[in-house]
Amino acid sequence: MTARFLIRLEKGDSLLTTKIETFNNYINGEWTQSVTNKLFYSINPANTEDVVGAFQASNEEDVKLAIESASKAFPNWAKTAPSKRAAILNRAADILEQNADQYAEELTREEGKHVKDAKNEVIRSAQTLRFYAIEGQTLTGETFPNDDPNMKVSTEREPLGVVSVITPWNFPLSIPARKIAPALITGNTVVFKPSSDTPLIAVRLVEALQLAGIPNGVINFVTGKASDVGDLLVTHPAIRAITFTGSTAAGEDIHKKSSFTTRTQMELGGKNPLIVMDDADLDLAVDLTVNGGFSLTGQACTGTSRVIVLKNVKEQFVQKLIEKTASLKIGNGFEEGVKIGPLANEKQLKNVLKYIEIGKEDGAALAFGGERIDAGVFGNGYFVSPAIFTNVKSNHRIAKEEIFGPVVAIIEVDSYEEAIKIANEVEYGLSAGIVTNNLKTANQFTKDIQAGTVKVNRTTTGNLINAPFGGLKKSSTSTFRESGRVGLEFFTQLKTVYIGY
Ligand code: NAD
Repeated sequence: MTARFLIRLEKGDSLLTTKIETFNNYINGEWTQSVTNKLFYSINPANTEDVVGAFQASNEEDVKLAIESASKAFPNWAKTAPSKRAAILNRAADILEQNADQYAEELTREEGKHVKDAKNEVIRSAQTLRFYAIEGQTLTGETFPNDDPNMKVSTEREPLGVVSVITPWNFPLSIPARKIAPALITGNTVVFKPSSDTPLIAVRLVEALQLAGIPNGVINFVTGKASDVGDLLVTHPAIRAITFTGSTAAGEDIHKKSSFTTRTQMELGGKNPLIVMDDADLDLAVDLTVNGGFSLTGQACTGTSRVIVLKNVKEQFVQKLIEKTASLKIGNGFEEGVKIGPLANEKQLKNVLKYIEIGKEDGAALAFGGERIDAGVFGNGYFVSPAIFTNVKSNHRIAKEEIFGPVVAIIEVDSYEEAIKIANEVEYGLSAGIVTNNLKTANQFTKDIQAGTVKVNRTTTGNLINAPFGGLKKSSTSTFRESGRVGLEFFTQLKTVYIGY
């Protein structure tokens, strides 16, 4: 299914000769090269001299073949017994678990997150496959009382057809798993395009499904640039649904381009606030800020990027936060104890450094970090020290725009009302938290805040496999939630059936 080639890569003035494995697209049950005969490379963001693999730089012709293959496979897969579909998901979960150590290492090389986080992601993805293997067999319709004693009226759920799955690099296995598993168990066929920064772990998911015995054409896999393959994945008339996770800009573009008969589920950006009340346990508030703002190097869509703090605890909070942040070890995701890894790619690095400059220019005070780290072993990686800005005003760009990096903006407020006003002022509404010991305030917060996920005394990051997930405002299309049992609904359509006896 893959081939090994000797590839000469140009890097500055020196020509490196490296053994790099080449990975193919997966179309109609075959691992095939792109019609373009062109490749791109997945690079380790902690050491850009480490090339993780070569992948197919596909074009629309490849996408067309993948969609045709998925269309052809759909009628049989839709008729396949749910228990057989479930058995394939369970076997694929076994394969992920059996290879968790290898896949975690590959994920860390490709994306940069710590290998323990990578292993958790592999295990969580296996659990997601198992969750949908069971839940997908319990989805039902309803029956409706009516005046005719000789008639039964009920709804039935049917699969949609071919689904495009388009995913980002930050959770390159668990996000595809939580889209592909509910799509497959409900009888849809899939064309999957991963982020070009993390194609290898995506290959592993497809391989697991292949080894688990998925019939040809049910899952198809195409790698390549969004500008080369994205349009057809979104506009081809056979595509009945698009499930996308990524930036709000890309999500809006896809949503506009797609036909009105194509269902869309767009999970997008965030600018997630954590409110720290003056009755809060400040040590807890600091832990939640550090974990929510800096874990995964700030590259979680639900990451804490604004901390809105009541005036009379602000000084103490900031002091404790700086102390804790200064103790975080920065480095390669394979090193024990590392809490801050590299940013995932060069674009990320440039974007984070750009926003640190914007923060300063707008008048915020850089109280800690925010520097490129490139000395010694960091020389070939995309490392930045975690940044804490104080004196941030709600109209500063770092308080409004998604940065998607280890940058926390501290905003001081006089009251709960002012905190809520500022928290809700942005165009996003993905996740939000409050730290308080007052139950009334906590309860009020759950009602006042505009966010799809609301946390009290917990990090803005993290969500359960069995609970719904999604945002409000520009964080989501808000049509259908992902994750949990409701995550199945997007992939099915209702038919109302009247049977006269
Ligand atoms: P991105 O939007 O650049 O890319 C995401 C995926 O979409 C990639 O596979 C990319 O190739 C593809 N793509 C981009 N533009 C496209 C287009 N016009 N048509 C078709 N496909 C297109 O995002 P990214 O940099 O990979 O990920 C970071 C973003 O993802 C952040 O904004 C983050 O908030 C968001 N995110 C959201 C969630 C969530 O559940 N809400 C979860 C994780 C990440």
